[in-house]
Amino acid sequence: MADCIFCKIASGEIPSTMVYEDDMVAAFKDLEPQAPTHVLIIPKKHVVSAAELGDGDRELAAHIFCDVVPKLAKELKLSKGFRVVTNAGEDGGQTVMHLHFHLLGGRSMQWPPG
Ligand code: 5GP
Ligand code: ZN
Repeated sequence: MADCIFCKIASGEIPSTMVYEDDMVAAFKDLEPQAPTHVLIIPKKHVVSAAELGDGDRELAAHIFCDVVPKLAKELKLSKGFRVVTNAGEDGGQTVMHLHFHLLGGRSMQWPPG
């Protein structure tokens, strides 16, 4: 999508610290980390939020949760645990309108989040 910052990161047009990439997804360090490890996992194709996911996205969702999250958790040494969060829409606190999963770790997480 032309004016989407995460599409531009996925294509390399905007620089980021990429920690993982394949045909379907990219994962890069958050610009304003909320934890010692804070990575954003995004689909390379433009999807607005989790509310837009559907039948055609099963492979993508499974890939993120069955392959990428456990692989990154291991590589980033989050053996004590981690949190995966996706914010959707206004009440969800979403600020970038391209689906992303925050992978947070390296400190104890409070619940509920602020
Ligand atoms: P949201 O609030 O939509 O769930 O999260 C958006 C996240 O994207 C925020 O944590 C913010 O710090 C991060 N972010 C926004 N713009 C950029 C950017 O240009 N580069 C990187 N690496 N992260 C960004
Ligand atoms: Zn996008």
